[in-house]
Amino acid sequence: MTEQREFQAEVSRLLDIVANALYTEREIFLRELISNASDACDRLRYEAIAKPELAEGNSDFRITVAFDADARTVTVSDNGIGMTKDELIQNLGTIAHSGTRELVKQLNGDDKKNSNLIGQFGVGFYSAFMIADKVDVLSRRAGEKVAHVWSSDGRGSYTVDEALKDEPGTQITLHVKDDASEFLLEERLKHVIKKYSDHISFPIEMSGVVVNAASALWMRPKNEVTEEQYKEFYRSVSGGLQMDEPWMTLHWRAEGAIEYNNLLFIPSMKPFDLYDPRRQHGVKLYVRRVFITDGVEGLIPPFLRFMKGVVDSEDLPLNISREMLQANPVIAKMSGAITRKILSELEDKAKNDLKEFENFWALFGPVIKEGLYDAHAYREQLCRVARFYSSQGEGLVSLDEYVERMKDGQEHIYYLSAPTVEAARNSPQLEAFRAKGVEVLFMTDTIDEFWLPMQDSYKQKKLKSITRGSAELSKVKSGKDETTEEEKKTPEEKQAAQDATEKLIAALKDILKDEVKDVAVSERLVDSPVCLVAPENDVDIHMQRMLKKSQGYEGKHQHVLEINDKHPVIARLKTLAANDPKSTLLRETALLLLDQARIVEGEPLANPSEFVRRMNMAIEKGLVAS
Ligand code: ADP
Ligand code: MG
Repeated sequence: MTEQREFQAEVSRLLDIVANALYTEREIFLRELISNASDACDRLRYEAIAKPELAEGNSDFRITVAFDADARTVTVSDNGIGMTKDELIQNLGTIAHSGTRELVKQLNGDDKKNSNLIGQFGVGFYSAFMIADKVDVLSRRAGEKVAHVWSSDGRGSYTVDEALKDEPGTQITLHVKDDASEFLLEERLKHVIKKYSDHISFPIEMSGVVVNAASALWMRPKNEVTEEQYKEFYRSVSGGLQMDEPWMTLHWRAEGAIEYNNLLFIPSMKPFDLYDPRRQHGVKLYVRRVFITDGVEGLIPPFLRFMKGVVDSEDLPLNISREMLQANPVIAKMSGAITRKILSELEDKAKNDLKEFENFWALFGPVIKEGLYDAHAYREQLCRVARFYSSQGEGLVSLDEYVERMKDGQEHIYYLSAPTVEAARNSPQLEAFRAKGVEVLFMTDTIDEFWLPMQDSYKQKKLKSITRGSAELSKVKSGKDETTEEEKKTPEEKQAAQDATEKLIAALKDILKDEVKDVAVSERLVDSPVCLVAPENDVDIHMQRMLKKSQGYEGKHQHVLEINDKHPVIARLKTLAANDPKSTLLRETALLLLDQARIVEGEPLANPSEFVRRMNMAIEKGLVAS
């Protein structure tokens, strides 16, 4: 009995675009169908380990591509897992794959852009409609008696019918469009198979001849694998979702107590779901060439979840259930060694090609730093991989390099927490550090606020925030003549200066008592009159804001307003405070300065219109005086 069904709306839209746009690369339909056939063989091979009867005595998995120029058909067949009726409806009538859904979202009215996207991503099974105006999928699920045939012209609906099929698996027949006759030529098809599917580990046959290399790419010696083959393989292990090229390819064999082969990639683009809490890593586990499963927990640590590729173990039992994998000590051992290998490659890359490394770090630095927070076992190595922007130079610096160029008398590793590198560079808290030539690391990722409190020190140097507590710069030698104006003063002059400062501080504390926790003389300012810092034992100002944003944290934090004793504005205020601590001008200026400090810090102003009013008043005074 034939049953007619509508495609899910998203599928119809996708099919419209696929069928109507102009494609330069429509040959990729074959890559997609072969990739599905290969997955289907992988799945049956795995399931047949526990239930050999499923394979019906057939252990020679293979994919066959055939064509009939007279009937104008191309068929792609496999003896893999096959699909039940429900699976045909579910898999070919809806878009279940989150990656494909993401791609569909990006498709729009621009034909050229669309075809590019489709060509590079692939739209899986639906790409068959690029060259076919009708597609029949005859499939029998392993273990089932009946087969079904799914059929569609790709225009809104499809039919499903019962059918007969001798062996389990799937046979896809493409009725080739008039303008796609090139795919009815043997050489053309062979060429496309070689180009995209050479790395497929099952034999792909045409007229009884195997066209591809049909051996697992990761088992081949490195020097026999071309760049192109690595790229195609990368594409295929990414499930066709990455349209980039690998940023780094790691291909090695581990020998010794346990043996395994690895072919791993670091992408050069950020996966769209990198921060999705459900995201798994993209490394597939094989056991002696048999695909076992994706994303085994415990194989690749979360801070490397952008990795793609294959790990193929020689030691794990083939019949291990997916549930038991995680607890297997071989997985833990491989994981440790693989993680250390990846980190050491990254370390080398950072040392040898910092420019290239910068591209990587921009995408995945924040993810790597998660390991500093929760992967104690790798912390030391992670500290050697981690790079930071700093107040010195434009490029990235490592903790080791920082420690090496610390100034005489400098005891701590200083850092500044800020929303962006740009904001950090312009921070007033940096001024004195800059003047003394003391380097400050910039911490601009959300994750920094989490690992920093746990990483008390590095190489016996304390990690210290420069926006918290006192600056402690007095011990650092700047190399310049340090006898300041201050030191030339007589004891009486010094006392008078100190009294004036104290008076001002008392007046400011009174004016700002509801706004700040304290007012103090700053050691960190040179050019700016004031800045805000957090008290020594409190949380950094920038972090307070982030906690507020990410966790709705509303702790009561009050900042310390630091004043630059040597700044002309502060000198003027001292005179005002000495004459009349209650003066309106002193009050207005104090509030104006506080708001300025807040702006620089990226803090919201409680009352922007009051700020504007005070600002205008000050401008007016300035203009009148000029
Ligand atoms: P993807 O391969 O990314 O999941 P596709 O559009 O290529 O997306 O395929 C959709 C689904 O259809 C597959 O996930 C699979 O479940 C099923 N499928 C496609 N081709 C086959 C096949 N030859 N054998 C068994 N199942 C298949
Ligand atoms: Mg597919």
